Amino acid sequence: RAKENGRNNYQLFQSAMNKKVTERLTLEHDLRKALERNEFVVYYQPQVNAATGEVFGLEALVRWQHPTRGMISPAEFIPLAEESGLIVPIGEWVLKTACQQVKRWQRVFPNLRAAVNLSARQFQSDNLVEIVAQALEEAELQAHCLDLEITESTTMHNVDRAIATMHDLKSLGIQISLDDFGTGYSSLSYLKHFPIHMLKIDRSFVRDITTDEDDAAIVASVIAMAHSLKLNVIAEGVETEEQLAYLMERRCDQMQGYLFSQPLPVEKCDELLHFINKTQVGTV
Ligand code: C2E
Ligand code: MG
Ligand code: MG
Ligand code: MG
Repeated sequence: RAKENGRNNYQLFQSAMNKKVTERLTLEHDLRKALERNEFVVYYQPQVNAATGEVFGLEALVRWQHPTRGMISPAEFIPLAEESGLIVPIGEWVLKTACQQVKRWQRVFPNLRAAVNLSARQFQSDNLVEIVAQALEEAELQAHCLDLEITESTTMHNVDRAIATMHDLKSLGIQISLDDFGTGYSSLSYLKHFPIHMLKIDRSFVRDITTDEDDAAIVASVIAMAHSLKLNVIAEGVETEEQLAYLMERRCDQMQGYLFSQPLPVEKCDELLHFINKTQVGTV
């Protein structure tokens, strides 16, 4: 009896495993085709100067419009894309698309900036600098209008090499932001060697700043540290007026989050940019 149950459990387990593996393989197969089938869409989330209401930048966030599963979030497919290496061509497409789109918006909002996420695989690839240079050139976007977002963990494998890559990128004239700051394990002593211009305080700290004293203290210290290192600092995931008030009191003046806007498809973002007084857009 016990033996039989054991076998049944084992078979259940195996079929669940098979299902997972099959699903994953199917998704990876679909992901391989997704670029040529034009299934990716870039959404844009405003980065706001809270004191003035100015939108100074837009972060490009990719979505996958799957033919049968509907919209798939990057949290689901970016890890798979990263493992399979597909993130390299996908990331290149996002970069080029975002540069071209922001260039179009610059006709109306000349100082608008583009922020694009770089995965670890992309950051470590040999021709990264050429690809970024090419994306800027094709879009005719000025280098200083592009922010590349990397995470602390991306820099961890080989810090010296990461610093060298950051300098190579900087020499193009672009700017680098450290994304999800506080969630990685990078030593603060490295921070001063990183040629970055902005820290992005991770959403997980911002979420509870009004209820959790520890998170409030962490956020206040990160803002103060960023300022003394002469870095810009932006809070991610700002959802409430109370969070906004706390952050502004601590002199964090750049914000991103649902309180201002969710990531939007081009047409919706276009409406939003035009709705906000033109003179308020892109003047930091
Ligand atoms: P991230 O770069 O830290 O982007 C911020 C994420 O937080 C986005 O999720 C955004 O939609 C979400 N978010 C923004 N404001 C709020 C808020 O107020 N509340 C909440 N709950 N969430 C907010 P999304 O678009 O699902 O992207 C998740 C992650 O996927 C990104 O985190 C980034 O690491 C990665 N990702 C997205 N697009 C790309 C891409 O083109 N290339 C690479 N390499 N990674 C990407
Ligand atoms: Mg980001
Ligand atoms: Mg982030
Ligand atoms: Mg993140």
